[in-house]
Amino acid sequence: MRYDLAIIGAGWAGVSAAREAKARGMKACIIERGDLGGTCLNRGCIPTKALIQAAKVYTTAKKASVFGITGSVPQLDMNAVIARKDKIVRQLTAGVSFLLKGVDVVRGQARFLSANELQAGEQRIEASSVLIATGSRPQELSFLPFDGKRIISSDDILSLCDIPASLLIVGGGVIGCEFASLYAAMGTKVTLVEKLSRLLPGEDPQVSAFLEKSFRKQGIAVHTGADVGGFDPADYRLTLVAVGRRPFSDGLGLEKCGVSTEKGRVVVDDYLATGIKGIWAAGDCTGKIMLAHYAAYQGKLAVANIAAEPAQRKASDDRAVPNAVFTFPEVASVGRRTGTTYTFDLLGSGMARVLDETEGFVKIVTQGATGEVIGASLVGPRAAELVAVLGVAVQSRLTVDALRATIFAHPTLSEALSDALHS
Ligand code: FAD
Repeated sequence: MRYDLAIIGAGWAGVSAAREAKARGMKACIIERGDLGGTCLNRGCIPTKALIQAAKVYTTAKKASVFGITGSVPQLDMNAVIARKDKIVRQLTAGVSFLLKGVDVVRGQARFLSANELQAGEQRIEASSVLIATGSRPQELSFLPFDGKRIISSDDILSLCDIPASLLIVGGGVIGCEFASLYAAMGTKVTLVEKLSRLLPGEDPQVSAFLEKSFRKQGIAVHTGADVGGFDPADYRLTLVAVGRRPFSDGLGLEKCGVSTEKGRVVVDDYLATGIKGIWAAGDCTGKIMLAHYAAYQGKLAVANIAAEPAQRKASDDRAVPNAVFTFPEVASVGRRTGTTYTFDLLGSGMARVLDETEGFVKIVTQGATGEVIGASLVGPRAAELVAVLGVAVQSRLTVDALRATIFAHPTLSEALSDALHS
């Protein structure tokens, strides 16, 4: 078969690219060797958040008396929790098939025969352009290889039907912190080890310090600046290795067409071109910002650039990519971390008190001279939702005055954004 565009991988990068190609009237196919929806839907964002929501409901149920509700505390039935998670994944995966209507879905492993020719399972595909969207996989530690039983990855832990008595988590990044929060809330004794001096090293240091303190209060044994060599996995029921993800491009035969890779990462320029005519890449496999919404953004941008005349192509704009960490308390950020800052403690928020979740703060970063909002960090309930407002502010180059002039509904958590700027 001959196509305008062949996409390898049906994660968010590939699916978003396919939708953009369809909207532009391109004849496109998408090749997937596993499940539609890729990591996010099957082994990442969605299943983790389904489990985290269960842990949140459980925590709230346990403290129901705070709200004047008494009675016996519900029990956590992990089989039911996992079944609900699997059902949500099935429903959303079915939705992906719907999104891909009008695009040929080819099942199988793809590899390059030449720059515009692919073998995909039994099929041979010719395409004017090829988009590589093959994602990433959990990074392994050579001295702690995954065995799927005692030393596990984030893929393995998602199907665990019992609550381990103890859990050693290696890595205090987003994935490690989310699982630490989740399992601590479910009653596991969690030990979290991070080599660097703080948790969530990509976030504002104040956020890291706040989260570490909160984790300790929740009973999580946090060891920052610590070497995992000092911990014996035999002392724990399970060890989760969450030291990051490695871009995945194995088995594609990229060397046949001259596409450069570095430690699995497909090297692309700001326009997502590989430098080899007709071959582009998007999503985690480019090793840039490994987030689902960024993968989707890149997938769409790559197709727009494929369709455009060279002079009209657009470079990736990474100024306002939000980051969300679904820990208890939640963390979110966007844009820059340094500048003139305005902060507000959620202790002063009426809605935070109503929710009985006053732990957290809002920190808005502006450029001193212009007053332009250039970033923000948030900790607290619904931080991942609230950061959207600040994402719009950063992307649209709004000033402090513009945000100050905005009326926020009362009583809401969003008032904290306005309160920060009036502080
Ligand atoms: P993927 O989703 O990995 O898709 C790549 C696809 O390519 C896969 O389906 C794979 O089977 C296929 N493929 C690979 N090679 C071939 C081949 N040769 N032939 C055919 N098919 C092939 N991000 C967020 O934004 N928010 C979150 O809350 C969040 N939580 C996460 C939690 C966990 C535990 C994990 C692991 C990740 C999380 N992420 C989150 C990250 C997010 O899942 C990824 O950034 C996103 O899935 C990347 O999308 P992608 O399309 O680039 O790659």
